[in-house]
Amino acid sequence: MLLKAVAEILQSVERPDEVVAIRLGGDEFAVMAIGDRRAAADALGNRLREQLNRFAELAGHHVRMGASIGMACFPEHGSDISTLLRNADSALYVAKAEGRSGFVTFSPAILNQFDMQLGEEAGIKRALNCDEFFLVWQPQFELATGRMIGAEALVRWRDPASGAIRLPMSFIPVAERSDLILEVDKVVLSKACLQAARWAPVSADDFVCSVNLSGKSLQNDAYFAHLVLVLQQTGLPPSRLQLEITEGVLIQNSRSALNMLTEIRNIGVGLALDDFGSGYSSFGYLADFNLDRLKIDRSFLSGLEGSKKKQNIVSGIIALANSLGLTVLAEGVENEAQLDFLIAERCHSAQGFFMSQPIEENLLTNHLAARQGRMKDTDKFRLGISA
Ligand code: C2E
Ligand code: CA
Ligand code: CA
Repeated sequence: MLLKAVAEILQSVERPDEVVAIRLGGDEFAVMAIGDRRAAADALGNRLREQLNRFAELAGHHVRMGASIGMACFPEHGSDISTLLRNADSALYVAKAEGRSGFVTFSPAILNQFDMQLGEEAGIKRALNCDEFFLVWQPQFELATGRMIGAEALVRWRDPASGAIRLPMSFIPVAERSDLILEVDKVVLSKACLQAARWAPVSADDFVCSVNLSGKSLQNDAYFAHLVLVLQQTGLPPSRLQLEITEGVLIQNSRSALNMLTEIRNIGVGLALDDFGSGYSSFGYLADFNLDRLKIDRSFLSGLEGSKKKQNIVSGIIALANSLGLTVLAEGVENEAQLDFLIAERCHSAQGFFMSQPIEENLLTNHLAARQGRMKDTDKFRLGISA
């Protein structure tokens, strides 16, 4: 019924000159319009977008329709039908990536973007198949005691050809635009839990490993099923694991994500709100959710020494977290002045290059084994290792 409704809209749309609409298959339609001005084409695209992104009545149900539109123009974007269709399809792909209701016109830059995305996706698939992802860990310290109380798993990609190590910023966004992020997050979770289970016997009882996951995984039941399975397989006590989510997920208010957060808490796994303060920072959800930890975004730490405003904001976040019974961890501590400020403000914990870079697993293993999680007084807070 929805497809029929769409077909009717496509047929009824005002004709610049002549419009032919056909269904290509599935939920994809092609519209060919004949006209001699680009402005008319843009106007048609915008009209279609308005008509197709609205509510429709289907058998008494109020249904939200959504459509993305990609456009290519003859002759500048192709001199034959197949090239025009292919380029319109590339533009469509970009429109989809930008959000539900985009309208994008083809340009050569899009082709580059499109090719790059496809090439990168193929690379990520290979990396998953060939086990090219690995984890480094950034230690986290309790400020009152200087004890190492946990570590955050950060994914890295070893390119076998060059041996170069790629940082997440260079591939996580690509993975997030496709569904590959679901696989990446699962692989990371498996690896992290396996390692965390090995560390559990040689670390203090409150040593917790943190793992990042994308909003997409939080809306995917398979991630939770995987979590339950991995905990079972590795024997990792759930209390030794904390998942880091970002504000975006809570703001979208997606039912499936919120349900999963509750389920995660119910099985005893901790939840941290990552990058706090960097996004919308609506406080409503702080009351609604059972979080364990707030992580103060590192943008507040950079230049903290010289900025009274940033100091006030950090103090404010610490007070907020304390009053809500959440532990608060400051990220991105790069110097002693920042650390001293956090200690004076009674911030619970911190991580950052000043204390330790993210380090390889075996280095952290050695540390835990040698000190059973306790730092020597002389190098309280500092691992003195760089990766
Ligand atoms: P994040 O979760 O905020 O992770 C902390 C990032 O800050 C890490 O970058 C870390 O190396 C960096 N960092 C730590 N201390 C300092 C410091 O003192 N100064 C500065 N300037 N930076 C510091 P990294 O490893 O490049 O990760 C970047 C982002 O990639 C992460 O930000 C997280 O959002 C994402 N990410 C990392 N691993 C995963 C993963 O396994 N799954 C998913 N979905 N995302 C991940
Ligand atoms: Ca994080
Ligand atoms: Ca963060």
